[in-house]
Amino acid sequence: MPSFHTLAEALDAQIDGSGEIGFIDGANDERRVSYGLLSRAALRLLAVLQARGAQPGDPLVLFVDDNLHFLQFFWAAIYGGLVPVPIAAGASEVHLEKLARVWAHLDEPRVVAGARHMARLRAYFEARGQADAGARLADNAVSDEPSAVEREAVRATPGPDDTAFIQFSSGSTGDPKGVVLSHANVLANIRAISEGSRFGAREVAVSWMPLTHDMGLIGFHLTLVCNGFDHHLMATDLFARRPLLWLDKAAEKRATLLCSPNFGYRHTLRAIAARGRPDVDLSAVRLIYNGAEPIAAPLVREFLDTLAPTGLAAGTMFPVYGLAEASLAATFPPAGAGLRTRRVARGELGVGDAVRFDDSDQAIELVDLGRPVAGTQLRIADAEGQALADDVVGRVWIRGDNVTAGYHRNAAANEAALMGDGWLDTGDLGFTHDGNLLITGRAKEIIFVNGQNHYPQDLENVAQAAAGVELNKIAAAGVRPPGGDADELVLFVVFRGHLADFVSMAREIAAVINHHTGLAVARVLPVAHMPKTTSGKLQRSLLARDYADGAFADVAAELDALMQPA
Ligand code: ATP
Ligand code: MG
Repeated sequence: MPSFHTLAEALDAQIDGSGEIGFIDGANDERRVSYGLLSRAALRLLAVLQARGAQPGDPLVLFVDDNLHFLQFFWAAIYGGLVPVPIAAGASEVHLEKLARVWAHLDEPRVVAGARHMARLRAYFEARGQADAGARLADNAVSDEPSAVEREAVRATPGPDDTAFIQFSSGSTGDPKGVVLSHANVLANIRAISEGSRFGAREVAVSWMPLTHDMGLIGFHLTLVCNGFDHHLMATDLFARRPLLWLDKAAEKRATLLCSPNFGYRHTLRAIAARGRPDVDLSAVRLIYNGAEPIAAPLVREFLDTLAPTGLAAGTMFPVYGLAEASLAATFPPAGAGLRTRRVARGELGVGDAVRFDDSDQAIELVDLGRPVAGTQLRIADAEGQALADDVVGRVWIRGDNVTAGYHRNAAANEAALMGDGWLDTGDLGFTHDGNLLITGRAKEIIFVNGQNHYPQDLENVAQAAAGVELNKIAAAGVRPPGGDADELVLFVVFRGHLADFVSMAREIAAVINHHTGLAVARVLPVAHMPKTTSGKLQRSLLARDYADGAFADVAAELDALMQPA
């Protein structure tokens, strides 16, 4: 990959080449757009935005789910020196709420939104007695299908250290934080991703990840643009409805690069269980990036085993660690090494604990996420920030050209994360083994019981041995009673039937957890649905807060009454 100073330079370098993007919106039709065409459309849109007064430095919120429209506006903003702020577009409450928050945080900037979303947004504001704000947003909104204006766009000439865009983190552990990324940050990470993926002269990518997510935007689109590779973007809702189309399209395009976070493998396996394995040839696939959330090794093995007859090689699975603050990628294993895991004893995984490797089935299986990508440094830090040795758990710190200089107007978050000397505390805990990173979980989500540290995803995995319990439909959290010095272990389970029928399920979950971990479960509570971020991550801390605030007191009392022996 040539070295570029700004993202605009990267797109400009491709406009005379043969690279193109396919937009898969249905089973058969695919719109194909060359880089040249994308660039011209972006400049036309920039003229429209400038006719409406847009100036370099203005944030431009992109609430657009159509991939082609999203990219046209993203590049319009980049060309004009506006700051794109991608926000996951959807009509559900969490999407509208995130947009409303970000919009207020950024002092009510211009929003690009489709007509369908605009109506919902106005209703959202009205329902909260903020019709005025809704009207201001609408007045300043730009349709995602604007008409052209008779005017030349004025291109900006930003420097490498100017802001390229603002990427809001998921909001798994609180309010989403605006990660400010410079052109230099993003391009450094793209170079590292290209190198760590061992790109050949020609790669073909098929992705269903939303472009509003760092894995979709940086990992797929921008990395492929910088390398001039063809890529095919499948609408995310199409993948949600028809996951097997992902595999069909990967085979049809002879894709070499695929990606999906953990939940995507489960979604695909479910469809295979219902409709059978598609008769496709996936032997061209070289890497499947798997990151953005904790990786369940058994699920990955099941996915690989199930698809082995398609020619999908086990070495294609590429478990990676990344976060918005690193632009995207922080650590990669060697490309082609496949899934490598280590089993460790539970309970002994707090900061400063030496890990005890344990090959028994009772141990926690963690995925080896490799070493820092080129230009990134990793430190496992103790509470004072001192570097810890291999095989000792600590806070995961990163530093490098790809790492953000800070969050947008968020002094508290900056204070918590910026450790000086360029180091950023990711909020994750983990250890290195032979220099390779294994993530144990998030510091904020640790559950402290019996003098030991436990991680929710481990307990949720264990609970899946109970009937009717599924991944992402159960959440574990530690709730500290006022004045207490240990947490109560509380489990929340999606359940929509009669409470009387919940009792046996709750008993079984508590028994399964106690049997495998020795922990006493304080409560198992039903919830109608799991609170999740716009990228589908569980918001365990929200449930814990509601529980501490007494929101579950009534249902807990009813359950207690039902559980009394007759
Ligand atoms: P917020 O910071 O707003 O609470 P978030 O951390 O979920 O949200 P992202 O930047 O989208 O926002 O996600 C990055 C986080 O996802 C990492 O810090 C880590 O906790 C988790 N993660 C990413 N990749 C992996 C992986 N391979 N294994 C385990 N966890 C991972
Ligand atoms: Mg985070």
